[in-house]
Order: sequence, then C-alpha cells, then structure tokens
Amino acid sequence: MTEAEIKWENFPVDVGLVYEGERIRGKQMQVELGGPKVGDKFELVQARKMNEVQDGKITIIGPDLKDMEEGKSYPVGIIVEVAGKQVERDLESVFERRIHEFSNFIEGMMHLNQRYDIWMRLSKASYKKGFNTLKWWGEGLIHLYKSEFEKVIEKIQVTIITDPSKIKPEFDKAMKVYKTRDERARSITDDDVNEFYGCVLCSSFAPSHVCTITPGRIALCGSISWFDARAAAKVDPKGPNFLIEKGECLDDIKGEWSGINEAAKKKSLGEVERVHLHTILSPYNHTSCGCFEAIAFYIPEVDGVGIVDRNFKGAAVNGLPFSTMANSTGGGKQIEGFVGIGVEYMRSPKFFQADGGWNRVVWMPSHIKDRVKDDIPADVVDKIATEADTTDLDSLKDFLKSKNHPVVKGWVEEEEEEEEEEVVTPTMVPTGVQMPMGVPMAPAATGGWKIILKGARITAEELIIKRIEPKKKKKK
Ligand code: SF4
Ligand code: ZN
Repeated sequence: MTEAEIKWENFPVDVGLVYEGERIRGKQMQVELGGPKVGDKFELVQARKMNEVQDGKITIIGPDLKDMEEGKSYPVGIIVEVAGKQVERDLESVFERRIHEFSNFIEGMMHLNQRYDIWMRLSKASYKKGFNTLKWWGEGLIHLYKSEFEKVIEKIQVTIITDPSKIKPEFDKAMKVYKTRDERARSITDDDVNEFYGCVLCSSFAPSHVCTITPGRIALCGSISWFDARAAAKVDPKGPNFLIEKGECLDDIKGEWSGINEAAKKKSLGEVERVHLHTILSPYNHTSCGCFEAIAFYIPEVDGVGIVDRNFKGAAVNGLPFSTMANSTGGGKQIEGFVGIGVEYMRSPKFFQADGGWNRVVWMPSHIKDRVKDDIPADVVDKIATEADTTDLDSLKDFLKSKNHPVVKGWVEEEEEEEEEEVVTPTMVPTGVQMPMGVPMAPAATGGWKIILKGARITAEELIIKRIEPKKKKKK
C-alpha cells in the first residue's frame, strides 16, 4: 500500500458493530500490541487548536505491523489530536474512551481496557487481507471519529508509536495528563451537583450494565469522570453518556437515589432496579462490565475488603487471581461481595462509606497502595496488608491482629456473641441464590456449618429464607 492508497475507500477489512465482541485468541493473532507482557502502553486524546492539527495525517513512529514477528507482543502508544469549535478539554476522556469501541469495530482487531492498560490483538486473517500497516488503524479511527462526531470534530490527526525509546517520554506525559484530569474531578463532591451521568458504552459486552458516574464515583473503567460524562452528554445527547436527574435521596450512606434507580432500570431493560453506589455488601451493588481497573472483594474470613487490580500478577490474598475474580464480578450482574471499581474511586471521600471505607480494607497490592497512599487515612494506612506482608488468609489474620486493624474489633464482638449460644444450629443454606465464590451463605453458628460454593451459579424460582433463633444460655 502506498501512502496515497491509505484511504477509507480501500480499507482492507470490514468495519461494524458486529465485530465488537470478537475475541482473538493467542493462536489466531498476528501480533499483540500492549497487554500484560508489555510495560509502556497508552492511548491519549488531546484537544488542540485548529492550526495545530493537520486533518487526516497519520504518523507511525517505530516498527510497523509488517516489521513485527508473528505471535509476539509489542509496546504501543497512540495519540489522537482533535480540533473544532466545540472541542474542549473535558471531551478528551470521552473521545479517548471511544478508541476502545472504534478499534473493536474493525474486523480482526481486539481492544481491551483503557489509558495505560490497553491490550490489543490483530488477527492473522485480517493481516492477510491487507491490514498490514498501523496506518489502517489510524485511518479507521479517523473515519469513525468523523462520522460519529461530525459536528464536533473538524480536524483529527493520529500518531502511533511503537519504538520503545520514543514511547517512554510520551507515556510519562500521558500519565501526567491522566493525573491532572483525575485531580480536577476531585474538586467537587456528590453533594455539590444536581445531576449525575450514566454510560452504556459497555452494554454491547454486558447488556444489563449501566455505569452511574458521580463526582464521588468515577466510572469503573477509571476513564470517565463526572465532568467528562457531562461534556459528552452535552455534545452527543444520543451517544452512550446520558444525564441522570438525582431525584430523591433514598440512602445517603449507601448512595441510593431515586433518579439513579429509574435510569438503571430503564437502561438495563428492567434487569437492575436499585443501585447502591458506595457499598460492596449489598444485593444492589453497582453492576460491573469487564473493564474495571480493579476489583473490590469481600473476605468473609476476616470480615474485610480486599482490592486487586488488573496489573497484579498471581493470586490475591484469598487465593484467587484477578482473572478468576473478574469472571465472578463482570458481565453486568449485581454481585454482593464483588464490585469492579476505578482506582480513582479509592480517593473518593465516599469510597465504600457504607462499609466503613478504608477501615474495612485489609489487603491490596503494594503498587496500588503506593498510588493512593495520600488518600488513605493516616491511622489505618499501615494496618492494610499488601503482598509483601501476607499472601494467604491465615497470615493475613495474624497481620491484622498484630496491627490492631479496625476489623479485629468486630471479630472480638462476634466471638463473645458466639460464646453466648448453647445450641448448635446448622446454618440454613438458601438454595438458589447466585453466590460469588468464597462468600458464606449465612453467618456460621458456633461449631455449625459454613457452606462455601466456589464458582457456583445455581438458579431457583423461589428463595425462602427462614430465621432460626438460637437458644440463649440461661444466665447464672
Ligand atoms: Fe462507559 Fe462504564 Fe464502560 Fe467506562 S466502564 S466505558 S463508563 S459503560
Ligand atoms: Zn466496560
């Protein structure tokens, strides 16, 4: 393909919604760009002045697809620069998030995650059809951006970097941009605004998933803040971001608003009726699609919350790796005990406030702890374990005890209560509840049974839970 032939009319493969859910397995891939094997990778959209953008220009810096070895992984950075009268900084994140969607529209191209976590694959079949230069990726994006944002994006240029030495300085710049965006979003709280926003961009992967984006809860993909969603809903009212009237506050602590409930019900086609924004221990947890930056998971053995992020290698403290827990968390269901979150949410003053916030967090990877350290209250920061302190539940218990973590107080109270009971009552197990792995079906009575269904998905037409009152010891 010569330079002149890189045009939309000559695009070598199909482009459309139908390819969005396409998965490209290791054996089918020509190359992998970004992903877990590669350190520096990023995608960034920047708003520019009209005279700073050469419309339609695509620049490749570093090896192109045909210079890459089949089946190997390569670093990648992509910078999309846009200009137009209506283009403003707040739209950058929203445009940036669409790289995911637009790249997935391309036959044989798979794009996962966002920002500094991107993971792409190109299929051998599409490569053979002629998708043998990254310029096609740039051309596809330019075409899709211009057709989707016809009235907003007047000029667009794309730079794709694969040269490792050239990526590093651009990666560092991109990290600063993400940081600045996140800091800006921290300037307001849920109480300062009259409306929230929603996003259904991921509904093609998880049909019942609806993101609720408030100042105190960034989207779980970590890339869309309240400001970003607001800007998007304004310029593209028919797009995936929409306004949510707050309505009546039904629970200030759990974060339940009538307006969110209505929006979630409508957009999930009745699947989700209520949403609790700021808790992990509710049947009305926020749904999770698949692109969450991290997973918060309940650890019944210590009555605490663990956090594991996408980049953490190996098993979390409960013995499960991120990928296994991601299967339980994602797919658009409301799973009590598992919630997908954006890392920035951990900095929110509302962070799981209904569960005790940071006082309930017992374990997290050290690289994430270092990132959010300044926002963890000083009296608890050293009481939260990382993989450097403990890698299993027994040593976690010892660690928490030795540090006198706030959850330990709850254990003592529980033990005292249990001593009061005389009769051993086997815990009734409600059959038919969808339970994520490792969550006890009900609190275990002294010496009774605790049944843990690992990875089970059982359905039943009816769920009956009967409370059995334990007999109390007569006080002497
Ligand atoms: Fe939108 Fe949520 Fe998907 Fe992010 S995770 S793109 S906010 S639906
Ligand atoms: Zn998603």
